[in-house]
Amino acid sequence: MAVPEVTLNNKVEMPQLGFGVFQVPDDETEAAVTAAFEAGYRSIDTAKIYGNEAGVGAAIARSGIPRDELFITTKLWNGDQGYDSTLRAFDASLGRLGLEQLDLYLIHWPTPKRDRYVDTWRAFEKLLADGRVRAIGVSNFQPAHLRRLLDETDTVPAVNQIELHPYLTQEEVRAFDAEHGIATEAWSPLAKGGDLLKEPAVTSLATKYGRTAAQVVLRWHLQLGNVVIPKSATPSRIKENFEVFDFELTDEDVAALSSLDRGLRTGPDPDTFN
Ligand code: NDP
Repeated sequence: MAVPEVTLNNKVEMPQLGFGVFQVPDDETEAAVTAAFEAGYRSIDTAKIYGNEAGVGAAIARSGIPRDELFITTKLWNGDQGYDSTLRAFDASLGRLGLEQLDLYLIHWPTPKRDRYVDTWRAFEKLLADGRVRAIGVSNFQPAHLRRLLDETDTVPAVNQIELHPYLTQEEVRAFDAEHGIATEAWSPLAKGGDLLKEPAVTSLATKYGRTAAQVVLRWHLQLGNVVIPKSATPSRIKENFEVFDFELTDEDVAALSSLDRGLRTGPDPDTFN
């Protein structure tokens, strides 16, 4: 099954479905990413703070998949923000991944109290100009943080990766991203596999389409145009989450899932997280 691609604002193509590895221990990451490659995923989302870039790198090395068929994302951790420290952190991440070039580098959180994301972004621009990374973006940026980057720097982020699922539809951030040509990527797309997957509005659609609750939620994301990176350490779920390209929700069913929005964050608030 071919995964559709989203064309980023610098013409780089990013798979719309990828595999997230948050909370996968480093020594289990090679096996999980290998299972994801076998299921057909080619995009992997890790971060320095996950402590498993080396496991991702081991799976890449073992896979034998041509480098240009993979799309690898990692993220700069909060304590590494700042111009010089960003350049050092990038080298270290690339070393752990065993790569010459990264596909997407993200500022993990804006941490507005530190007030360093503009300098950090200037280092990201240098990494892009030097060809060390194919696209640069941010994560957990609210419109006010994005507005500052747009006003004070030269490069519009290619991606904004935010918490996003039917309990937190993020209309305002998605609209801002769309207006400025920034692709929205959904983290915790299944709301961490909890109550959302037992929600009657979701399970009734699962019955209607003969699919699982997770597949219905992933389909909702894809039809909204979100890039999506579900995580699972369970091989059968890794496969299940990839089998979402052979059915389609009606517009009414997409709207019914969107109406579950209750502003519910499973993770930190980007305005205060430091
Ligand atoms: P998800 O919404 O992807 O949910 C993962 C949980 O759902 C796991 O407990 C998993 O269980 C379970 N699950 C997965 N598939 C299914 C299924 N088909 N049926 C039932 N349960 C399922 O949450 P994450 O928080 O992991 O988010 C995904 C990715 O987003 C992360 O791995 C990371 O890459 C990224 N992320 C980014 C953040 C940021 O700040 N930028 C913050 C948080 C996440 P099991 O593994 O046991 O199968």
